[in-house]
Amino acid sequence: MSKNNNYPTISVGDILRPTIVEVNISRLRENFEAIKAKVGASKIMPILKANAYGHGLVQTARLMEEFGADYLGVAVLEEGVLLRELGIRLPILVLGGIIGNQIPLFIENDLTITASSPDKIKQINETAEQLNKKAKVHLKIDTGLERIGVHYYSSEKFIEEALKCKWLEVEGIYSHFASSYSSDKSYTNLQLERFNDVLEYFEKNSLKPPIRHIANSGAILQHKDSYFDLVRPGIMCYGVYPSEDVERSVRVLPTLSWKSRVVYFKVIKPNHPVGYDSTWQSDHNVRAVTVPVGYGDGYFRSMHKSAQVIIRGKRYPIIGGIAMDQIIVNIENDSAFNNDEVCLIGNDGNERISVEELANWAGTIPYEILTNINTRVPRVYY
Ligand SMILES: *Cc1c(COP(=O)(O)O)cnc(C)c1O
Repeated sequence: MSKNNNYPTISVGDILRPTIVEVNISRLRENFEAIKAKVGASKIMPILKANAYGHGLVQTARLMEEFGADYLGVAVLEEGVLLRELGIRLPILVLGGIIGNQIPLFIENDLTITASSPDKIKQINETAEQLNKKAKVHLKIDTGLERIGVHYYSSEKFIEEALKCKWLEVEGIYSHFASSYSSDKSYTNLQLERFNDVLEYFEKNSLKPPIRHIANSGAILQHKDSYFDLVRPGIMCYGVYPSEDVERSVRVLPTLSWKSRVVYFKVIKPNHPVGYDSTWQSDHNVRAVTVPVGYGDGYFRSMHKSAQVIIRGKRYPIIGGIAMDQIIVNIENDSAFNNDEVCLIGNDGNERISVEELANWAGTIPYEILTNINTRVPRVYY
């Protein structure tokens, strides 16, 4: 799907809606290059979970492969299988926890498994033996998130057992930070210290350590001593910083815009309420346009009190709430016409609406805005 194709034919799966997400390929590449320059010799595993933070899983994976990513990271088995089915050859680590009946699919699809307990290691080893094919695993150490992984203080026995398993290839070992984007660096430093202690096992036993990794976006920006052999940037690949006060030590720019178009224009008379539950009305004539986007696309209903869009380079408020598929925009005395572009996230003229702004309107974080843009919104790459 290209933005400027001249072909009149439309096929299923092609762009049918005026509401689209645009992904800026050159920015995605520049962000990748900026991260690469920052982390030096460390390998890069872009994180593509949740539809690549809304950017489209498969296309983004292809682009990352082209840019020279060393590894790809996803959250769940299905994301990995889909990438394999569509021809992605790079190694893929599935970051989430697993349950027993998923293991054969990991091994058959050559997906790297997060091994997060002694029990799971045993199960993976047994399944690999049955399939007569080694399973690639990364050991998951819990250094302070208390999510999946073996506690740092119990890791020695865990590593030892894993290395004894004949059908496991222990390719990596990793952990995850709880607050690496915070201006208070103490907890991240403590987690780093614990991870370093865990890694001493290899030195003590004169073993070559597997691929060691812990750095997400916040750590790449603020903790140079966390890079190890590989880094796992997620949100910063997409040009969004993980928090407002994080050090912006790498310059990245937003890669995603969210656009729609005016599909209807009308003049609303005084004292004629607008939208479900009739919660908004005016005491004078207002000109209003309808835009085909709503909470069913991930344009959160909770934003309605503050939400604005840009039309013809000017900001306008939403009135009458956010419905599942449509919003109504108050353009007061201005003009707008059917098919005019409506910017929900991105630049138009001198105005810009950021993902952070939507997150503030909705009382959430940019991660949740990006990952909730529904798959029914077509992605266009340019
Ligand atoms: C999501 C995730 C990342 C990426 O986090 P960002 O803050 O988006 O950089 C890295 N590692 C793991 C284990 C994750 O779950």
